[in-house]
Amino acid sequence: KLQTEEVEVFSTPSYACQRRTTLDNHNAVLTDALSLLAENAELSGEDGRGVAFRRAAAALKALPLPVTRLTQLGGVPCLGGHSLRVIKDVLESGASPEVEALRRSERFKALKVLTGIFGVGVKTAGRWIGEGILTLRQLRDSGPTLNRAQRAGLRHYDDLNRPVGRAEAAAVAAVVEAAAGSVLPGARVTLIGGFRRGKQTGHDVDFLITHPEEGREAGLMPKLVSWLDSQGFLLYQKTNSNSYLEAAEGPARPASNMDRFERCFSVFKLPEEAGRGGAGAGGEGGPRPWRAVRVDLVVSPVSQFAFALLGWTGSKLFERELRRWAGHEMNMCLSSHALYDHRQSRYLRASSEEEIFAHLGLEYIPPSERNA
Ligand code: ATP
Ligand code: MN
Ligand code: MN
Repeated sequence: KLQTEEVEVFSTPSYACQRRTTLDNHNAVLTDALSLLAENAELSGEDGRGVAFRRAAAALKALPLPVTRLTQLGGVPCLGGHSLRVIKDVLESGASPEVEALRRSERFKALKVLTGIFGVGVKTAGRWIGEGILTLRQLRDSGPTLNRAQRAGLRHYDDLNRPVGRAEAAAVAAVVEAAAGSVLPGARVTLIGGFRRGKQTGHDVDFLITHPEEGREAGLMPKLVSWLDSQGFLLYQKTNSNSYLEAAEGPARPASNMDRFERCFSVFKLPEEAGRGGAGAGGEGGPRPWRAVRVDLVVSPVSQFAFALLGWTGSKLFERELRRWAGHEMNMCLSSHALYDHRQSRYLRASSEEEIFAHLGLEYIPPSERNA
């Protein structure tokens, strides 16, 4: 009788918002390969394919053990033919030829470098590549017209592509709290995005700001920004004003996915404390006195705070899946402002994330388990 090795067959629910995805990924080699294909699809303007690869990667991130054989994946959702082929290659030979070729491809490398400039999107990068601009040097030399964001992005390229650590996030938080406390006493500042999910590094630092008295937060962003600017903390900022009106949205046009809070995309000039400088801060003159850090600020009225908190904590795929679940399974419409129930033709209120999950008929998933 043949000794058969026991292999676990995995099974996991189909929406990422039904799963607990911690940062402890047991299948990083597989998910890195699929994420690279997702990134390439997104950089090529093929968003549908991008989402498909993101979903496949997310399904594997939720598994409790490393996958060793294809036959273990029978109960794992979101794995299309293309993803399965890549997984098979990696399991059999340690790498996928398609992914390795992509990694080396000039076009992919150029897209990564150019979209790595703050303010440069897929379309702009694609156009530049069409004009023969593949590197930062070529960009600087050939000098196409850059907007204000792109000029800041190019000037601070190295800093903005160096991951932000938790200590730096805490230093930014202290500055934002001082600013908010000074221009609106009682304002509350909450760290959101990847750091709220427990990540050790991020590409930026995200904050949600509110005030416990509804209405007091109105017009806060310009004051906050001018305080930060006057104290010399801003290298760049662009503020969008709040354009969300529930009455205007109404049942006819329920809360769309685009969110319209008062928002500021910025680049902070963060003083480097002695001893924290570390990698990249070296050079002839010793540690530099400051570094550039991307910071996103969002202001929400307290009545929408729970929705904003849920909508800005991420991950991006987790958010997308929550909205898909709401629409397809509950006949509801979820945004970072509100939850609208089409069956009852009314908005469902919530003052905590737990209540929103309950409205959606989902088990509560804490931020540290939303790393899909
Ligand atoms: P990282 O550590 O790389 O910054 P992150 O998860 O914090 O990862 P962000 O790009 O900072 O990623 O986004 C944080 C959250 O904010 C995500 O959940 C995303 O859905 C939300 N978000 C980002 N940009 C927008 C936007 N323009 N409109 C609405 N929500 C957004
Ligand atoms: Mn972030
Ligand atoms: Mn952000």
